[in-house]
Amino acid sequence: MNESTSYQRHVVVAGGSFAGLGAAYTLRERLGPGDRVTVVEPSGRFVFALSLVWAVLGRSLYRGSFALDPALEAKGIKYLRSAVREVRADENVVRTDDGEIRYDRLIIATGGRPNTTAIPGLAGEFRSAHWIVGEDSAVEARESLRRLFDDPGPLVIGAAPGATYFSGVYELALALDTVLRRRGIRDRVPFTFITGQPYLGDLGFDQRAARAKLQTLFTERNITYRTGVSIDRVGSHEVVLGSGETLPAAVSIIMPPFTGDVDLWKSPKLTDEHGFIPVNDRYQHVTYPEIYAAGVACSFDRPIPPLTEPRAPHTGYLAVRMGQAAAQNVAASLGSGPPAERTLPYVLDVRVLDGGSTGLFLTSWGTKRLQNVAIRLPHPLIHYLKAIQERYLVWRLRTGRMDLP
Ligand SMILES: Cc1cc2nc3c(=O)[nH]c(=O)nc-3n(C[C@H](O)[C@H](O)[C@H](O)COP(=O)(O)OP(=O)(O)OC[C@H]3O[C@@H](n4cnc5c(N)ncnc54)[C@H](O)[C@@H]3O)c2cc1C
Repeated sequence: MNESTSYQRHVVVAGGSFAGLGAAYTLRERLGPGDRVTVVEPSGRFVFALSLVWAVLGRSLYRGSFALDPALEAKGIKYLRSAVREVRADENVVRTDDGEIRYDRLIIATGGRPNTTAIPGLAGEFRSAHWIVGEDSAVEARESLRRLFDDPGPLVIGAAPGATYFSGVYELALALDTVLRRRGIRDRVPFTFITGQPYLGDLGFDQRAARAKLQTLFTERNITYRTGVSIDRVGSHEVVLGSGETLPAAVSIIMPPFTGDVDLWKSPKLTDEHGFIPVNDRYQHVTYPEIYAAGVACSFDRPIPPLTEPRAPHTGYLAVRMGQAAAQNVAASLGSGPPAERTLPYVLDVRVLDGGSTGLFLTSWGTKRLQNVAIRLPHPLIHYLKAIQERYLVWRLRTGRMDLP
């Protein structure tokens, strides 16, 4: 499929998840009817990653998902079920598994990938640990936990240095503790939580409000925790920390370090040394002005206030907002409407950690200084809040209601 730009303008969005959908719907609203918007995404379905934790504990994987083709077609957006393998930035061409596509603007929203080589046994084909970054990994972790329920033993949950999606591991630890108690086997499962972050609740952007609340929750539930750890290796029955300490583990579920998309690494000068797309405060590539990036895939060329690090928090909520802002800037660069007023939204982070019998609602906001709040909420309130968050976000992304908050 070799295409030429016989229409007015063609914007290609690589990746059809939170950031990609936020971008595609916004582009469709802003660009003219003759302009084309194409989403290139290999998976065929949107999966609400925030609910994978509950899929690990037995819930249906399909509850928080929908087919991309009809959702995008209903909005006049072309969907190509394929993967981008290369970006030829000098020619404005992406090479996909199904041929080449020319673009006037490209938005890269391809998320991140587990780094499979950083820690022996943690990731990759012969790994001993589990992770939860997609449906397959959630099913594998679920099977190991089933065996643990039948034959209880020590459990290690956590996040390696360089990991992301921290809320998932906190939520899993709390929810799993609840499940083990309900099964009456918690006293036979010594439970350790490890993180490379400096303190419990550091979600990668200094969310200090969660710290004391999580310490209390973990202490109440008798979950031993280690912060600021490095991991030397993971074996089939143990996790060996950088300090030399060996934690016995019948099952370990550890979020690995993350990198950007490996396929895009093959595209010269496109990514930084970690595989992420370097962008300015307009989400525009620092070298190629016709390329933009949003969500987990991008890294700013400097910290954007109120953040103090170039990388924004990796959350579904923020990825949608970043996609919307990037798309507004793309449309503005093509003469369609004003650019985004702000790089980051005033409300930077909204998370619900449903820990089964209790949980935390976390939010962060601000323009110059980040303000944080963490509120402990009981069951079933926390569970309803999580369900409402899931249904609302999935509905919004399926129907393209980008006008709503
Ligand atoms: C277990 C878990 C729990 C989480 N819990 C929370 C939570 O409670 N709250 C919260 O806000 N966030 C949570 N997150 C984080 C949230 O899911 C991510 O921040 C969000 O998915 C990032 O969206 P994204 O669109 O940037 O990237 P992704 O969702 O990773 O999407 C990238 C997309 O790009 C596609 N793609 C990849 N390579 C290519 C290619 N070469 N060509 C075309 N397409 C490609 C992929 O198939 C994928 O669909 C959690 C994540 C996990 C894994």
